[in-house]
Amino acid sequence: MARIAIIGLGLIGGSLGLALKRSRLRDVEFAGYARSRETREKARKMGAIDRAASDATDAVRDAAVVIIATPIAAIPDIMEQIAPALPQDCVITDVASTKAQVMRWAEELLPHHVSFVGGHPMAGKERSGIDVADAALFEGKPYCIVPFVHAKETAVNTVVGLADLVGASPVFMDAEEHDSYVAAISHLPLVVSTALFSLVRDSAAWPEMAQLASSGFRDVTRLASGSPEMSEDICHTNAQNIIHWLDRMVAELRKYRDLIRGDDEEALFKAFARVQLERDAFLAGGAKVKRPERPVEAGIGLSDLLMGHWAASRTREVMKAVESQEPPAGRAHRSRHRPQRER
Ligand code: NAD
Repeated sequence: MARIAIIGLGLIGGSLGLALKRSRLRDVEFAGYARSRETREKARKMGAIDRAASDATDAVRDAAVVIIATPIAAIPDIMEQIAPALPQDCVITDVASTKAQVMRWAEELLPHHVSFVGGHPMAGKERSGIDVADAALFEGKPYCIVPFVHAKETAVNTVVGLADLVGASPVFMDAEEHDSYVAAISHLPLVVSTALFSLVRDSAAWPEMAQLASSGFRDVTRLASGSPEMSEDICHTNAQNIIHWLDRMVAELRKYRDLIRGDDEEALFKAFARVQLERDAFLAGGAKVKRPERPVEAGIGLSDLLMGHWAASRTREVMKAVESQEPPAGRAHRSRHRPQRER
């Protein structure tokens, strides 16, 4: 039996295990490791893994694929620990929310006889831990695939195949590009959500305001309930990009303050109206990104995944659609015209 190892069995690692185990992948054993014995046992009982390993090295022994799903700060230690035990040609991937630092660690700490391909599923919840793991978490969501320029095609196809098996849509990009984009669409909202909550919570009138705070306040501050450990890791490993976007946010808020303070009523109305239309259009476009029904087909083996035949044919299908500029039914894909990098 071929083996996939998952190290870190929280929201993302546990959800990947559940989703892969209910996918078409056959004849694969899932070995899992997390720091706490209780988490390992829970993951096994929930069916996210088949076997709880006694340590990270034990989990990766004989593994064809290793998924590192720990907090970002734990990744270099994990890479160091597992490096001597990784089998020849093993494919390693991760799920970390930032990529440039992780790619540097992989280059530095992993042996040359394995292939690392970075990954980041654009799906999550504000709660963490195995208890909130969910097999459907990745359905219809983008999954960033970040290969080294010298990555082996089979290794890239393996990670594309994993993303596809969990119901996500693979999106290729390089690490710098990834970190600059997620700083805007994910990390800035996290900081803004936290700052908004802390600003209002620290007000002397909080007891009165809290009674009135309803869905709008809850929606906009939802991300402030995320794991502080993960938020800190994200800020440490993507500081420059986040600071860049925070500076722009401050300027944007000043713009709205000036509009509100000024006497140009039309300009104020236009600012709100334009954004309402643009956000509605964004949501309408996003809503169209639905996955097609899974074709009923026989299970695929890990060897198919590793050989890349199946994944390669899916990639070709996506590429053909990109070339004809028609998205394959229900699939998100990148525009051929890359947006200018914001710096
Ligand atoms: P989590 O806290 O739910 O799970 C982390 C798991 O890693 C736990 O099982 C914990 O026991 C284990 N762990 C921690 N340190 C370890 C170590 N040294 N050795 C072995 N296991 C260890 O966190 P999560 O939300 O699943 O996040 C995991 C990764 O996924 C992070 O790198 C995060 O950046 C990324 N990510 C998170 C989200 C999200 O919304 N939560 C979304 C996309 C990507």
